[in-house]
This record gives sequence, C-alpha cells and structure tokens, in this order.
Amino acid sequence: MSDMGDMGLVVVGAAGRMGQTLIRAIHTIPGARVAGAVERPSSPYLGKDAGELAGIGTINVAIVDDPLPAFAKADGVLDFTAPAASVEFAGYAAQARIVHVIGTTGCSADDDAKIAAAARHATIVKSGNMSLGVNLLAVLVEQAARALDPQDFDIEILEMHHRHKVDAPSGTALLLGEAAAKGREIALKDNSVRVRDGHTGVRKSGTIGFATLRGGSVVGEHSVILAGTGERITLSHQAEDRAIFARGAVKAALWARAKKPGLYSMRDVLGLS
Ligand code: NAP
Repeated sequence: MSDMGDMGLVVVGAAGRMGQTLIRAIHTIPGARVAGAVERPSSPYLGKDAGELAGIGTINVAIVDDPLPAFAKADGVLDFTAPAASVEFAGYAAQARIVHVIGTTGCSADDDAKIAAAARHATIVKSGNMSLGVNLLAVLVEQAARALDPQDFDIEILEMHHRHKVDAPSGTALLLGEAAAKGREIALKDNSVRVRDGHTGVRKSGTIGFATLRGGSVVGEHSVILAGTGERITLSHQAEDRAIFARGAVKAALWARAKKPGLYSMRDVLGLS
C-alpha cells in the first residue's frame, strides 16, 4: 500500500461484465492504475492478462485467485461480484486497511451487517448504483415523495435488466425505493410490495410497489412512477453503457482514499447527501 502517486486498484471478479469494464475505466482515468485482478479458484481465466481480456491489450497484470497478496500491495479494491464474495473481500480489505468499493447487489441484511462491521477498519463505499444520473434521480425521488401526499399519490418502481441478472428487484430499484421511503419518513422494509401475483386485493395506500422485467442485453432502466388521480409523474433513468458505473466506482475509490474508515454511499461521494 502506498501513500503517494497513483492509486493502485485491485479488480475482483475481473473477468465479469463489470470487472472487464472496470479494467478499461481504470486504464483511462488519471490517478488510478490496475494493481491486481482476482477471480475465483475455478475460473478458466486464471493466468490470463486482465488488460487483454478487457480488450485494451497487455497491461502485465495476470488474473490470480488469491486476494490476500494482491490486497497487500494495493490501495483499494473495486468489487462487483456476488454477496458472499463481497462479504469475504470486505474482511480482507479491512485487514489490509485499504479502500473497498462495493457495487455488488442482492446483499441480505446479514451480509450488510457484516460489511458494516468491516467498515470499522476499512473505508467502504457501497451503492446499488454508482452512476451520477441515478444518484441525482434518487435526490429528485426523495423530494417528490416528500412533496406529494401518500393518500393522493401511489409510488411504483419499474425496472428492466439483461437476461443474465440474478437478483430482483435490482439494487438500483431498492436504492430508489429507499429514497422514496426517506421522503415519506417511513421504513421501506415495512411498506414495500416486491411482487404481485393472483388475487392481490386493492392497492394498500402508502405502500411502495416494485415490478421487475428481465430480457436481452438491457444495461439498466428504472422508472419511478408517482400516480395520482388524473395525473402521473414519471422520473426515469436509462443506463446505456456499463462504463458509467465503472467510472463512478473509480471516482469513489479516489474520493475514499482520503477518508477515515466508515461506510459511505455514492451520494456522499457525489456531494448529494
Ligand atoms: P458477472 O458478469 O457475473 O460478474 C461477476 C464476476 O465476479 C464473475 O466473473 C464471477 O465469477 C466473479 N466472482 C464471483 N464470486 C467470486 C469470488 N468469490 N472471487 C472472485 N470472483 C468472483 O456480473 P456483473 O454483471 O458484472 O455484475 C456483478 C454485480 O455487480 C451484480 O451484483 C450486479 O447487480 C452488480 N452491478 C452493480 C452496479 C452498480 O452500479 N452498483 C452496476 C452494474 C452491476 P463466476 O462467473 O465464476 O461466478
């Protein structure tokens, strides 16, 4: 770990969709460099050059399966993998006292509690969406939810993602739901309707509903619909390229380098809190 110069970043899940996008993003952002690339022990990509796999040519960083030596010589970790893996990496990042940027979604309350515990020693930035646009959208959703009476306006969140996505609702849909709940000063977990099927009865006033679509290659589409009687407001975001999340993650790492251990959000990084 170094205090000076470019920030050395390890990409875990380096062969994944986001992993490869992160390698490309780090390559183009001044002040950051790829310090390591990690995949799971059974990965067919072990030993391959992370830059070649990401389509930017050789960067002399081979993909390895042991995170510890890689973390020991880095300043931060960029992690878009899976909940169990992110919990494990949070422990290692805390041991190494380095920055951990977590974009992984689908974490349980138990996973989040373990990540919060690791944040006593590591500087962690965790967000279900690392883009500027979605974090700004969350601010607007919070304002709209605060302004509109729950008796008059129903809030529904619609999302669509590519066919390979494994968790639902998306981390971004939940982030937007949290923003709406915050605006209404209620707890999302006690007021959300995450699926509807069969004879559901009429809509319960004050709830926040979710609907999930999956298919094709959609990078990420989210709409927050505030439906009143005779009028409807729709606040939406379309992600066209995964690079927006990767650039946000690198920005978060560079921001977090100067911060004390703790658990931060992308709204903190972007000054939108
Ligand atoms: P992906 O293509 O499946 O990539 C995940 C990668 O992590 C895979 O290469 C996977 O390997 C690897 N991995 C899993 N467990 C590992 C472990 N224990 N050690 C090392 N590597 C491990 O998925 P993706 O589309 O890139 O998405 C990854 C995560 O990021 C998802 O949770 C997604 O929802 C989230 N995401 C967040 C944002 C945001 O802005 N916050 C944006 C986009 C995506 P295997 O294939 O061998 O399992």
